[in-house]
Amino acid sequence: MKAMVLREISPIEQGSLKMEDFPDPVPGSGEILVKVSTCGVCHTELDEIEGRLQPEFPIVLGHQVIGRVVGLGPEAKRFGSGNRVGIAWIYSACGTCDFCQRGDENLCSDFKGTGYHAHGGYAQYAVIHENYAYSIPERFSDAQAAPLLCAGAIGYRDLMLSGIKKGQILGLFGFGASAHIVIQVAKYWGCEVFVFTRSGAHRELAKKLGACWAGGPEDQPPKKLHCAIDFTPVGETVPNALRVLEKGGRLVLAVIRKRNPIPPLDYARHLWNEKEIKSVANITRRDARDFLSLAAEIPIIPEVQEFKLEEANQALLLLKQGKIQGSGVLRVAD
Ligand SMILES: [Zn+2]
Ligand SMILES: [Zn+2]
Repeated sequence: MKAMVLREISPIEQGSLKMEDFPDPVPGSGEILVKVSTCGVCHTELDEIEGRLQPEFPIVLGHQVIGRVVGLGPEAKRFGSGNRVGIAWIYSACGTCDFCQRGDENLCSDFKGTGYHAHGGYAQYAVIHENYAYSIPERFSDAQAAPLLCAGAIGYRDLMLSGIKKGQILGLFGFGASAHIVIQVAKYWGCEVFVFTRSGAHRELAKKLGACWAGGPEDQPPKKLHCAIDFTPVGETVPNALRVLEKGGRLVLAVIRKRNPIPPLDYARHLWNEKEIKSVANITRRDARDFLSLAAEIPIIPEVQEFKLEEANQALLLLKQGKIQGSGVLRVAD
């Protein structure tokens, strides 16, 4: 099959992924073979390409995969041939450790990520255990559905962990793929949303999607925030967000890695008055399932910028530069 393959760490500006003939994956016991239609582009891929995460090479990236079942491994019976399915970041978890037992499979000691510990969707085919695949609500096209699987599902987890309540004020720092979905959920829940981003185009999209206010990351919003979610890959956002957080408020950090260190925090200014910081790690299958049905109910309409599979480097470069409106999605097959 054709795949965009990563074989070594390099800045994305160097065109890190190469189109290759890669061995077709073979579904093992309980696994399904998926012919990939679309695959979303995520910041985590930049972390892998540029060495902030360490996958084993060679690796096929991509963890927001929409496709159709074209083969079943032994014992696989949940889906039939031709069924549309999605594959998300959680590739597998052990099911037996303390974290798995209490429902926190995202923290599993043996958590495996799609496109990280196992090959993902920047390719014509992918395999996944049937228990880790999702049915996709019909109202979404293949391109619209892809970003729901990470940008959407992790954004939903961020929102749940922020503890935001109906009618409260939510701040979003950075307005990329995840934030543009999160704002739609927060509006549906009756929240006021303030958006902080350097990009003029992203501020415009934020206003179009219902933000009450949009400004720069250092700007003073009209009111303090009950909760904030930081989607940016830079460390400076953390003190900026804590500064405008209401007493007792919580800041959720949504990225896996920051590109640069978080500056020293001033206890009195940034943390006192019971402010909290919480990071988010991975997703559970329940997050993905719950979010997919919520997305269909609202409905969420993801803004999508499509690229061909062979344009993955370009899509990732634009993502790094903050130049994608909404979500970048690779079109692998029609
Ligand atoms: Zn992702
Ligand atoms: Zn486990």
